[in-house]
Amino acid sequence: MKHTLYLKFLLSYLVFGILGFILVSTVTNYGLRTQIETAEAHTLYTECTEIASHYAKNYYNGSMELTELHRHLETLSHYLNTKIKVIDPSGRIIIDSANAAYDSDIFITGFNINDFGSKYYMINRFYNTFSENHLTVFAPITPAYRVRGYVLIHKPIQDIYTYSYELLHVVYITLLLIFLLAFVILLLFSLLIYRPIRKITSVADAYIDGDFSQKMNIHTHDELGHLATVFDYMANELNTLEDDQRKFVSNVSHDFRSPLTSIKGYIEAILDGTIPYEMQNKYLNIILFETERLNKLTSSLLELNKFGSHGKTILYIKSFDINYIIRMTALAFEGICSEKHISIELILSGQTLFVTADMAKIQQVIYNLTDNAIKFSYPDSSITIETTEKNGKVFISVKDSGIGIPNDSLKKIWERFYKTDVSRGKDKRGTGLGLAIVKEIIQAHDENINVISTEGVGTEFIFTLSLSKEQ
Ligand code: ATP
Ligand code: MG
Repeated sequence: MKHTLYLKFLLSYLVFGILGFILVSTVTNYGLRTQIETAEAHTLYTECTEIASHYAKNYYNGSMELTELHRHLETLSHYLNTKIKVIDPSGRIIIDSANAAYDSDIFITGFNINDFGSKYYMINRFYNTFSENHLTVFAPITPAYRVRGYVLIHKPIQDIYTYSYELLHVVYITLLLIFLLAFVILLLFSLLIYRPIRKITSVADAYIDGDFSQKMNIHTHDELGHLATVFDYMANELNTLEDDQRKFVSNVSHDFRSPLTSIKGYIEAILDGTIPYEMQNKYLNIILFETERLNKLTSSLLELNKFGSHGKTILYIKSFDINYIIRMTALAFEGICSEKHISIELILSGQTLFVTADMAKIQQVIYNLTDNAIKFSYPDSSITIETTEKNGKVFISVKDSGIGIPNDSLKKIWERFYKTDVSRGKDKRGTGLGLAIVKEIIQAHDENINVISTEGVGTEFIFTLSLSKEQ
C-alpha cells in the first residue's frame, strides 16, 4: 500500500515496453513489408519492361534468336536473383530462365492476365507453379502494338522479407535503447519526485500521530518544495494552536474555578449557619461581586471568540467622529473618576475628526484603555486622551500617570488572561482579557497599537485609525 505510486509508475513503464514491442512487431512490421514489397515490385517492373521492350521485342521482330534471348535472360536472372519467363498470351512457356528447354509445350495452367487486375504484380504461388509464395511482376511484349506475350519475373517473397527482418532488427534495437532511456528517466523520477513525495507522506503521517516536531527538509524551488514549506508552516501553526488551546483552557478553568469556589464556600457557610444571619448581607455582597466577575468573564470570552485567528471578523466600517466618541466615553467614566478624584483631560484635534472604522468596536477599544488607565492610576491624578492627525492617519493616545507596567510584562499584556502581579492586588475584578480584545479589534482594522510605560511613572497606549476622506 505504501509504495503504490512507485508501483504504478513501474507498471506503466512495463506496459509501455510491452505495448511498444507489440506495436513494432505488428504495425511497423506490416508497414515495412508493404513498403519493401512495393519498392521491390517497382524495381522488378522496371527490369521487366526493359526486357519486354528490348530483348523480347527483338526476338519477335526476328532480330534475335531464341537461344540468344534465353542466354540473356539466364544472365539477368542470376544478376537479379530471380526467375524470368517469357510466355505467350495463352500461358505457354516460351522461355524459362530456370529451365534449359525453350519453346516448350508447357502451359501455365489457368493463366489469365486479368488475374493481375489493375496491378502489375501479385504475391502468391503463381498458379501453383511454386511451393511457396513469390512476388511476380509482368510486362507485356508489344511489337507493332500487339500483345504477343508477356515477360514474368518471379522472386521468392522470403528473400524480400529477409531484408524487412534486417530493418526490423534496427527498429527493435532502437526500441530497446528507448526502453533503457525510459528506465533512466524512471530512476531520475524516483530520485527527484518519488522520494520527496514519500518524505512528505511519512512526515504527514507523523503529524497525524500528533508529532509536529518532524520537518520535511525539502528545499527545492518547485511545487514539491512549496508543498513541503506549506506543510511545515501548517505543522508549526497546529503545534502553537494546540499549545495555545491548552493554555487557554487551563486559564479559563482557573479563572472560573476561583470565584465558583468562594461562592460555593460562602453559600455552604450561610446554609449551615457558620455565618450568622446578621453577617449574611456582607457575604451575599461578595457572592454578588463574584457572580458579576463571572458574568464579565463570560461576555469577554464570547467577544474574543468572535475574532477568528486570521482576521475573519466582520467589521461594519463607516465614517464617524472619533472626538465625539471619546467625549462620550469620558462622560461614562465621570462617576468612577469623581470617586477616585481622577480627572480626564481631552486634547482633541479640531472640533470634529472623522475616521473610517467600525464605530462600536473602536468605542470598546477606547472604553477598555480608559478603564485600565483609571484602574491603574493613583487617586488625585490625571488621565489624558489625545487625538492627532498625521499623513492620513489619526493617532489616539490614552495616557495615565499610574502604576506603570514592568518591562518584562510589556509584551505579555496582550495575551489572554495576562495580568501583572501588581495589578492582581489592585484589581480583583479584572479578567486580563480587555487588552486581548483591544489588540484583536485593531488588528482586524489593519491598524497598529503600541504601549510606552515606565513602572511607577505611568503608561501611554497609542493606536492608529484611517482618516475619513468624507468629512
Ligand atoms: P479587564 O480588562 O478584563 O478588566 P484587566 O484590565 O486586568 O482586566 P487587560 O485590560 O487585558 O486586563 O490588561 C492586562 C494587564 O495589563 C492588566 O492586568 C495590567 O496588569 C496591565 N495594564 C493594562 N493597562 C495598564 C495601565 N494603564 N497601567 C498599568 N498596567 C496596565
Ligand atoms: Mg482592562
